Amino acid sequence: MLFGALEAGGTKMVCAIGNENGEILERISIPTETPEITMPRMAEFFKGKEIASLGIACFGPIDLNRSSETYGYITTTPKLPWKNYDICGYFRKELNIPVGFDTDVNGSMLGEATWGCAKGLDTAIYITIGTGVGVGVMAGGRLLHGMLHPEAGHILMPVRSDDTYAGKCPYHGTCLEGMAAGPAIEARWGAPAKELADRPEVWDLEAYYLAHALTSYIMILSPQKIIMGGGVMHQTQLMDKVRAYVKEMVNGYLVTKELEDLENYIVLPSLDDNQGIMGALKLGMMELELQK
Ligand code: ADP
Ligand code: ZN
Repeated sequence: MLFGALEAGGTKMVCAIGNENGEILERISIPTETPEITMPRMAEFFKGKEIASLGIACFGPIDLNRSSETYGYITTTPKLPWKNYDICGYFRKELNIPVGFDTDVNGSMLGEATWGCAKGLDTAIYITIGTGVGVGVMAGGRLLHGMLHPEAGHILMPVRSDDTYAGKCPYHGTCLEGMAAGPAIEARWGAPAKELADRPEVWDLEAYYLAHALTSYIMILSPQKIIMGGGVMHQTQLMDKVRAYVKEMVNGYLVTKELEDLENYIVLPSLDDNQGIMGALKLGMMELELQK
């Protein structure tokens, strides 16, 4: 059986066809312009492919409340043409198949939980550190939504005493995203993050904030694994520093086999950057099951 998958991002839309084993058989990438331009191009790709359902892992905020009138909409996004846009409704109408929907980071979490390094676990998180910071949460075997969906990239951070940067988040200044996303690194240090590879102080501070956030997630959610993706994690020097700070910040308070083996606890994604699109595929498969 074939399924459609869409990883909907602010700069590009990745559309794919795959099967129940998570194999991606065909994919295209379309730049994210306005819905009027981009949506028909995507629908055209999916039409005639005999897919049983479609799954969308989407940038947000989005409405995931099934009893809401705007379920399946992109809601208050700063990407204005997509604000209050019924992305699921469009595909349901054009393709006439079930459409599964979740956040981009919950999608990546689901991909890793189904076919990757979080397989068999029931509670884990996926954090992406890129243009923004987002966190997907699987708790007790289910993707966590709650009131809306977690926005754990915007947790407020204590500013380190040697850091004078005011933070880049328009809502919170010094939240995690405002301190540690790619644009914040560039604004603080005056050069794009990838050009700062040989500046250890950059990555020490970055690791400090990331570890602070991870320590909070550990205390609140008790994840069995933490997966860290996104462009900023391409800095290979970062991971060991993050683990070292987490150890320091947990400070022996928790004693678990996971925390004793940080190299297998805080990890990079395991699916070759396919975790998002594979998770979207699984969202479609789950929606089909749900509607049977
Ligand atoms: P997005 O978040 O837009 O989906 P990415 O996850 O690729 O995309 O994140 C883009 C951000 O990651 C940019 O702010 C960029 O500065 C940063 N980035 C990309 N590559 C690297 C790198 N090698 N080292 C550090 N930062 C990087
Ligand atoms: Zn914020």
